[in-house]
Amino acid sequence: MKTPNPQNIPGIFNYCNRWCERCPFSDRCTLYQQEHGDWPDEDADMNEDAFWDKLKGNLENSMDMLQELADEQGIDLNEITQEEQEEAYHEMQVNELMVDINPLSNLTSDYLDTCLTWVKNSEIWASLHEHIHLQSGDKINELEAIRDESLEVIQWYMTLIPSKVHVALNSKEEADFWDQYPVEERHYNGIAKLILVCLKDSLEAWEGLESLFSSAPEQLLYAKSLLSTIESQIRAQFPDAELFKRPGFDS
Ligand code: SF4
Repeated sequence: MKTPNPQNIPGIFNYCNRWCERCPFSDRCTLYQQEHGDWPDEDADMNEDAFWDKLKGNLENSMDMLQELADEQGIDLNEITQEEQEEAYHEMQVNELMVDINPLSNLTSDYLDTCLTWVKNSEIWASLHEHIHLQSGDKINELEAIRDESLEVIQWYMTLIPSKVHVALNSKEEADFWDQYPVEERHYNGIAKLILVCLKDSLEAWEGLESLFSSAPEQLLYAKSLLSTIESQIRAQFPDAELFKRPGFDS
């Protein structure tokens, strides 16, 4: 098993936005190092022994990590009965159902649809382009940079927000397990805190776009209002989220 870099921040990748290109901690992140160094390249030659050695090594690492997790929780992986497996499966299905009917699921799915509609709205982009190009030289560059950066941020988070909300809600359904930990250590609070960061960055991006229009398009205002509603719901359903210290990101 590969020895991790001792400077790495344990578990940092569990509560990050996965935007590695922009991450100040990529040189201290085990996941980043694994994905950019230890995992086989996508175009690696399938016949090369090195490829299979690498893959085997990574599978062994994953099995070791699973075993460590099970040991930590006092679970003997060899002693899980058929009945326990069925019970766990049933519990998982109930959790999924609870997540589906949570208002946050609808809200985040609506938000994703709104973003997609916006991104594909060629009329709006054409009118914005026209508006920007009415300005003088330097100003055009400045406004185009705001437009491009805002769009990039919105697109990055539009799928991450629904998926992280799903993870947070799912984890919160496992209350029996998390209740034994203080609130500031519960996984769902860490994810909820990450979601609050994603919402804030997204809202700023929408505001950046809004500043480019003389009159804000209705869809843009709707996207902003959805973000505010999602934020209120996160704060109401995860009132202790701010107490969680995300490794590396929160001092
Ligand atoms: S912590 Fe940074 S480098 Fe690691 S996975 Fe997250 S964004 Fe990428």
